[in-house]
Order: sequence, then structure tokens, then C-alpha cells
Amino acid sequence: MVYVLIGKCEGIVIRNVDYGETSKIVTIYTKELGKISLMARGAKKPVSKLSGITQLLQQGYFLFHAGNGMGTLQQGESIRGFRNILEDIYLTSYATFMSELLDRTTEEKQKNTFLFELFERLLEYLNDGYDPEIILNIFELKILSLLGIAPELSRCVNCGHIDGNFMFSTKEGGIICHRCIDQDRYALPISVGAAKIMRMLYLIDVNRLGNISISEQTKHEIRELIDQYYEKNSGLYLKSKKFLKQMESMKLVLPMKKD
Ligand SMILES: [Zn+2]
Repeated sequence: MVYVLIGKCEGIVIRNVDYGETSKIVTIYTKELGKISLMARGAKKPVSKLSGITQLLQQGYFLFHAGNGMGTLQQGESIRGFRNILEDIYLTSYATFMSELLDRTTEEKQKNTFLFELFERLLEYLNDGYDPEIILNIFELKILSLLGIAPELSRCVNCGHIDGNFMFSTKEGGIICHRCIDQDRYALPISVGAAKIMRMLYLIDVNRLGNISISEQTKHEIRELIDQYYEKNSGLYLKSKKFLKQMESMKLVLPMKKD
């Protein structure tokens, strides 16, 4: 006997890959079930009723059959498509990277309402024109926390002192004071400002995100530190990172938006 269950979830499409001539496998981060992958038969055909709802960053209600193995998407009802992001290749590169990061750091069917709401809220900010670099930094730092590898940024990770001169150690997992500097001879310089802002972004309540203004120099410093930290501690290599980097370097040549 085959049991077929019908499920309905609210979610956001974080990945889609072609399957055969006409279908797609779509990965959705849902409020109710966490990440799920579904077969969307015929979704590659433009006339399919599944064609629109399976696009990247579509937020909607998804109705699916769940049998043994992968479920099958039956229909979807769109809530919104984050149009401003998708119409801007620069913002798209940020959202694509965030989607891939979410996909790669979560397991199927592990419900996490906090993470769903975090992702949803940050996409909203991105769509509303908030500084994409700050949005991305917040997401990356909060993901590190969910992975249980957040850097210690308020005291020396080795001895616990809160005073002294500090460096940033990817190896030790946070800031390290002058007394302990022998623990990591590859420790990176970190300014007091960057440490403070990283800590603030990591702890911030995204429902109350005010106007945060960070100098270009500090942003650049934070970007480098987070990149090095991920490289050393997460074991992730994300394809969309390269695209994001290309877009960032293009922005330096052709400033797209000034605030
Ligand atoms: Zn120390």
C-alpha cells in the first residue's frame, strides 16, 4: 500500500535545478518543515502553472504530495517575488549567495522558524534598498552562530581578558589579546571599531534594524575577516561566492548606488 500525504507549507525558493527535459527539482526553505526539496514536473515549460512559483526567491504557499522519497509539488500560490532584488543583478548576487549559504548549512526537514524569519526579514531589507553588505554580514554571522562556531568578539578567546591589544584569530575562534598572541602567529589585525560592529551585527535583532552606517574602510575590514573565518572554520565552498566577488569588484569600477 502506498501512502500519499498532502502537505502545505509557506516557504521561499532557495534553489532550483533542471531535471530532464521539462522538470525541475526545487529546494524551498519553509516555515513549517525547514528545508524541503520537491520534484516540480513540467516546471521548465513556460506555460506550466509551476513555472513562476518555482523561480528563485519566490515566496509562497506550496502544496505537495509527500510519499516515499522526494515529494512532488502540486501547486503554489505566490505571496511575493522580491522584485527589486531580482531586477538588480547586484542585489541578486547577494540574495543568491545568501540562498546558497542557507541551503548548504541546513539539513532537510529540520524545522527552524527563527532561521526562516531571519532569512525572510533580511530579504525584505535587501528588497527595500538596505545596504546589502550589512545584510549579508548579519546573515553570515548569525549562520556561524547556528553552526555553533560563532567567533568570540567581546573578550580574549584564550584567556578571557577584556582589556589589552587585540588581534583576530580564525584558528582560535575570535579575538585574542597581546598576552596570548603566541597561540596564533597568523592572527589578523582587527580594529576596535570592526570588532565592535561585528559583535553588534551578530547580536542584532533583525526586527528592529535601525539605520546602521559603517565606513567603507570598516566594511572592507569586516568583509575580509568574515571571509577568512569562513574559509578556516566552515569547510564551505560556495559557487555563488565568485559571482558575488565579481559584482563587488565591478561596483568599485562603476558605482551603482550611492547612499
Ligand atoms: Zn588573552
